[in-house]
This record gives sequence, C-alpha cells and structure tokens, in this order.
Amino acid sequence: MPELQQTVGKTAGFSGTALHTGEKVTLKLYPAPADHGIKFKRKDLQDEPTIDAKIENLKTVERATTIGEGPVRVHTVEHVLAALWAMGVDNAIVEMDANEPPIGDGSAQIYVDLIKKAGVTAQEEPRKFFDARETMHAESKTGALLILLPDDKFRVSCTQAGPNNRFAQFFSMEVTPAVFEREIAPARTFVYYEDVMPLMDKNLIKGGSLENAIVVRGEAVLSKEPLRFPDEFVRHKILDIIGDLALVGRRIRGHVVAVKPGHATNAELARSITREQTRRSAVATPRTIPTGDGGLDTDQVMQILPHRFPFLMVDRIISFETETKCVGVKTVTINEPFFQGHFPGHPVMPGVMQVEAMAQVASILLFKLAKTTSRIGYFMSADAVKFRKPVLPGDTIFIHAELTKSRGERLAKAKCHCVVNDAIVSEAELMFTFLDK
Ligand SMILES: [Zn+2]
Repeated sequence: MPELQQTVGKTAGFSGTALHTGEKVTLKLYPAPADHGIKFKRKDLQDEPTIDAKIENLKTVERATTIGEGPVRVHTVEHVLAALWAMGVDNAIVEMDANEPPIGDGSAQIYVDLIKKAGVTAQEEPRKFFDARETMHAESKTGALLILLPDDKFRVSCTQAGPNNRFAQFFSMEVTPAVFEREIAPARTFVYYEDVMPLMDKNLIKGGSLENAIVVRGEAVLSKEPLRFPDEFVRHKILDIIGDLALVGRRIRGHVVAVKPGHATNAELARSITREQTRRSAVATPRTIPTGDGGLDTDQVMQILPHRFPFLMVDRIISFETETKCVGVKTVTINEPFFQGHFPGHPVMPGVMQVEAMAQVASILLFKLAKTTSRIGYFMSADAVKFRKPVLPGDTIFIHAELTKSRGERLAKAKCHCVVNDAIVSEAELMFTFLDK
C-alpha cells in the first residue's frame, strides 16, 4: 500500500498576534484537494491572492522565512509549515487576514493544536517523495552546514552552538507526527540579546516579547517560563529546518545532518533538492524497450561477450536493423561502481565507459558476423570521439553501432553513438582487431 496524501478534516482557526507588526491576525486552515500542496491566502487583500508554499516563491530569509508572488508577501511561514508537514498534512489552504501568522509562544505548539482540532484525513492519491540517492549539501560562510544523506525515513540530526560555543547542543530524530508533537513542536524561538536590541530600537518586532521568544544575554536565559527542554534551542533549530524544507513540496526520504543551521542554508538545500527533482522528472520519461526475437536478452549478450560486472556495459540488444547495424541499451543507476569516485556528490558517467559500451555493442555485431566467440576483440583506435552531454544516474542509454568496414576476418571499423532522451550524448569511430583466445 503506498502512503496516501492527507488534508485537514475540517476548517479550523484561531487568532493571535503577528510578530513583526504586533497586530491581531486570524489564521484558518481549510481542506484542499490532492496534489494542491500548501497555499497561503491573504484574505485582507483585494481578490484574496494565494501564494504557493514553494521554494520558487522564497523572497527573504533574514530572521524568518518570507515567501511571495508578485507584490504579495507572507512572512514567518516556517513554524506553520513545519507543523503541517510533520503532522502529515500535504494539502491545505492557510488563510490569514494579515501578512504573517500569529506567533503564539514562539513554538509550533499552536499549529499542532490547530491541526489536531481540524483532524487529518487520507486522500486518494499517493504521496510524492524525494528520495535522497546521493549526498547533497549546502553551506554558508558563517559556518552553517547541511548535508542530506540517503535514508528510507525522514530524519534530522542537528548541532547548535551559540557565541563562543555556549549552549552547544545536539538532537537527532526521525520526523513522525508523534515525535514532532512531543519533542519539537513545544521548542520556542530563541534570540541573542545583541541581535534583537537594534530591531527593538527600530520598532521592527512590535509583537516581540518574552511571551514569544527566549532571549539569551551572555550566560543568562531570559524567558517568561523556564526552558521546556534543557536542549530547547537545538530542537527549535530542527523545527525551522523542517519548516524550510517543507518548501520542497514533497516528502523527503533522507537524513538531514545540520551544523549551526540557519534559514538561508536551509533554503539553499531546499533549492538543490527541488532542482534535482526537476532534473529527475525530466529524464524519467518512460519508454518501452522491446523484447523478443529482434534482439538479445542479457543472458544471450553474456554468451557472446566475455565481459562481466562491473565491466559489462550493455544490458540488452533491442534490435538488429541489418546484420551490420544494431542498438543496445544500458540503464545507468547510482549503484554503478564508478559513481563512487566519479564524482562524489556530482555523479556523471565517465566518457570512457560510454566508449566501452559502444565497443561492446560493436563487438556483438562482429561476433555474430563471424559466428564465433572463440576470439577476443582488441580495441585498436578510437577516432572522432565526442562527449556532448553528461550521462547521469537514472539515464537509459541507447547505444547505436554500425559496422562500416571490415578487412578480412580480423579487422573491423564501427561508427557508434549513444543517445539519452533523444539527444546524442557521445559518439566515436572505433577500430578493432580480432585475435584467437
Ligand atoms: Zn523558528
């Protein structure tokens, strides 16, 4: 059973104070259809414009995360987005009559309470995931570092340290509704006194008070109520990471390891994930690969070619156009051994491996013509080699080979090219000699 998308069961809302303007704001959650995603709606503006909670709409990341479309903005979206994602809501409209949600006590508690009031219900469409297949990372000059590692669950591990490494903390968790509600949602925003004083002076955080943030001044922790967890700061950092990564618009299966994270770096990772997802969707166009009498299956290929893993570079021959012309296919996966070193974090298939693939498909033609496999083909030359486009994990290569010349039984020339998504990615003219085994 695939995991299904979810929305809220019914409309629910509450009112509170906006952090930056200090004004009263009412926020309501509405159910939304499958594949709708999370959208913010500004009920206070003419025509009630909506803004998609997507990384493409990210505007600023200073102190809080702001998204916008055209001239319309919504500020400080990260806590409500974290709660929606972690509590399992994929589709909803977040309606507000101001440019910012209520700040509550500076944690995500109010949003978790709201989602529980509205209820969460399953829809008919399966959830969309981003699977971390290779390591990705984002870092900043200020020392923030986020790494995304492959994992079959969504996990976050985070370290946080204040000035002079005061309040150094670590927390690690799998993001599930129960763990989020218990361990992360109550963790409040914290600010450093030095950072917040100039903003107070400029009147930029009119709604800010010890009711909705913990203020750290030197060794002292100032807040209305005592710390909720000894490591409340790192837990809030995880809350912000979840909220910012929600802008990917898909569930993530991967492990985020974060060092001193901030909104800017969180957003950069969200952007890289979205870019990678776009690339994967573009290359994943399904195509049918014919089987049957026209070609050779893997077993038959291996009866002809002496090559074996990891050096067998053709999965199947899909067609013989003539005796001297055929097309092979090779599906490139991230599990290819060469991706481990070529290059970690930026896997591209080495061009020489494509030449090898062309040589193997050409040899199949030669072996079939010679009707013997008692010889071994040796590469003599490769001319006019061109690598036109990178070949990436997930690509299916169609390897075209045509014998252009054969002199006697022992020498042959082939013209070859590799195609991915209807574009030539590489080409070469190869010459072989055949020697008895
Ligand atoms: Zn926050």
